Amino acid sequence: MGALVSARLAEYLQKTFPWITSDHIFFWPDSQITLYWINGDPLRWKVFVRNRVREIQEKTNRGHWNYCRGKTSPADKSTRGLSIHVLVQDDVWWHGPDWLTSQNLSFNNSADSEINETDIADELTKNYVPVMTVTEHCRNDFIDNLLSITNDYTKLIRIISYVFRFTANCRFPESKKFGPVKADERVCAENSLIRMVQEGKFREEIRDLKRGKGVSNKSKLSSLNIFIDENGILKVGGRLKHSKLNVYSKHPIVLPTNHILTTNILVYYHKKYLHLGAQALLYQVRQKFWPINGKHNCKKVIFKCITCAKNKPVLTSQIMGDLPTDRVTPNHVFNVTGIEFDDFETLSPGHFLIGRPINGIVEPLLSEIKETRLSKWQKITKFSQSVWKVWKRDYLCNLQQWYKWKFKVNDAKVGTLVLIKNENLPRTKWLWGRISELFHGKDNQIRVVNIKLPNGTVLKRNVRDVAILPTEN
Ligand SMILES: [Zn+2]
Repeated sequence: MGALVSARLAEYLQKTFPWITSDHIFFWPDSQITLYWINGDPLRWKVFVRNRVREIQEKTNRGHWNYCRGKTSPADKSTRGLSIHVLVQDDVWWHGPDWLTSQNLSFNNSADSEINETDIADELTKNYVPVMTVTEHCRNDFIDNLLSITNDYTKLIRIISYVFRFTANCRFPESKKFGPVKADERVCAENSLIRMVQEGKFREEIRDLKRGKGVSNKSKLSSLNIFIDENGILKVGGRLKHSKLNVYSKHPIVLPTNHILTTNILVYYHKKYLHLGAQALLYQVRQKFWPINGKHNCKKVIFKCITCAKNKPVLTSQIMGDLPTDRVTPNHVFNVTGIEFDDFETLSPGHFLIGRPINGIVEPLLSEIKETRLSKWQKITKFSQSVWKVWKRDYLCNLQQWYKWKFKVNDAKVGTLVLIKNENLPRTKWLWGRISELFHGKDNQIRVVNIKLPNGTVLKRNVRDVAILPTEN
């Protein structure tokens, strides 16, 4: 009570003498227990002490409460029965203890050194639950850890429901809950999870709404007419208030873009509705949630779905390779073949195409000599040479450009899971296996791969005949 009266007196002094601020006022109780109460959390104490400690903490600076040993306290003197003559001459009563006016005044507000639990046990409340102060950094870590437990949304909600149940059972042991998680517990867990994520991602928007201001024009949510519902969840106000849609469709819950919770919810809907496409998935999700940048997020989820990849495999492409020397060097047909000719001369297609035996001597270059100086055979030879010149000038240069397979693709790695193209089978029946070896071309790009099937067989395939499965996660 003495501490409370002091706190009220200090408040009165500050109101009466404006030049006195809380910085100028210090308190010196001689009760360590009182000091312990004032320095502690008011919720720890029973109602009588709690209310008084709370008032003291509101009215005064908690750091200005210091311990004064009983022997030096002038307040004690009035309770010991001093005569008026002694009191008049008592220096401590009139001027306070010596240490109070000392130049080296030491402050000691850590009263708990000589306090033990039995001293404060009478005033401790039985239902005290410690309040943990969580910084923003800890909070984000906590949510990230929570979301990393599993990527199964329903399982995550179930886990959080059990955590909440455990907490409630500890607080109220007289009404413990048992058995499977109930619908209302799931709703509570889901709301809490979404609220935590929204508070992290839409901090400015929530702050503006709580202050009664509109959302900033720079916010991604400015076009959604968002509001905070009775559960503290950010929802889309939208323009469908008067429609006959259900309340979730009219006011879906806002989800941040590129967030693990959003991804998990999209994956949950994608699987629940049997691997929907992006547009249909977005439609289904918007029955309850409004993911920001929704279509992009839906496409990302579908791109990473193995079931979808197996049903619609995208074959690997590879940049076009350099043409071999034989294809870019002027030459006659059949000059480069796998066939060996015998010694005796036979009539071969070469005779018709190049006008000479296939092993005949190559004619000298005649393109610079006037035709009037040439024999008939030389004219034919000159014409043939001019054809090759045109081929070299007009056709060969066209091969420079890549018409397809324009990019280097080296996604294939040893160990990558792939589907193997087989045009005689439907896509769902294509074999799958892991790449066991890579073969590079002269340009150092992967051209051929060995694939090990589950039964141990190894197949060699062109890299363009395999479809890589999205197994990064
Ligand atoms: Zn899918």
